[in-house]
Amino acid sequence: KASLYCVATPIGNLADLTERAIKTLTMVDKIYAEDTRVSLRLLTHLGLQKPLVSLHDHNETARVAQVLTDLEQGLNLALVSDAGTPLISDPGYHLVKDVAAAGFRIIPIPGACAVVAALSAAGLATDRFIFEGFLSAKSAGRRASFTALKTEERTLIFYESSHRIAGFLEDLITVLGAERELVIARELTKLYESFYRGTAEALLARLQGDSDMQKGEFVVLVKGANAILEQASVEVEAATVLQILLEE
Ligand code: SAM
Repeated sequence: KASLYCVATPIGNLADLTERAIKTLTMVDKIYAEDTRVSLRLLTHLGLQKPLVSLHDHNETARVAQVLTDLEQGLNLALVSDAGTPLISDPGYHLVKDVAAAGFRIIPIPGACAVVAALSAAGLATDRFIFEGFLSAKSAGRRASFTALKTEERTLIFYESSHRIAGFLEDLITVLGAERELVIARELTKLYESFYRGTAEALLARLQGDSDMQKGEFVVLVKGANAILEQASVEVEAATVLQILLEE
């Protein structure tokens, strides 16, 4: 029976394309791609010629019928986005939901994903985290999101683009405070890959003083709120002091 393969592609370094991704792209009959020009470059790099059909945010729901027809006719399909794992802040959700509902098999071909790559090297708590993707492009929307996340204790992870990174940090400081610890992962797997660690205030100052730091693609990881932990440690401290006083 025909299947839909969700194939992860590199987020910068082409060597991150897995052997299984190459085999899958070689095997499938047709590839649905977020931007056919971007995927054509990847296929050319692999020496592959495949029918490429666009599937992006503006035509995704309309494309579903076509994909289902393809699958009914026995065609194996791949879904790729411009970079990284499809559906992760990328098109494909409606498609996968409807293809699953129609009873076809959907096979993930895992690989690069900026959120996971950033988290694995950031040095923030990884046992529990939440991914918020892109916040609003507008300041008011971003502030509303940060407000809702103010007491969130899990590590918070966001995607951001180069022209909004400064505004993003400004709003973060307004709502979460200047002292909140962050990690900014920039240009992962690429030539200028960098991790910046520090308080929100220090990182914004650094960004404003360094135009190179404002270039490229960003994952922002924010240390979770530790209000309860702080409260607990204050109580432990008080108990210790009380103990000492009683002993005196
Ligand atoms: N599907 C992709 C994934 O699996 O990570 C994400 C696609 S989303 C449209 C693009 C955003 O992901 C960028 O604005 C940036 O926040 C993040 N991103 C993608 N590649 C990156 C990289 N090499 N370094 C840092 N962030 C990256």
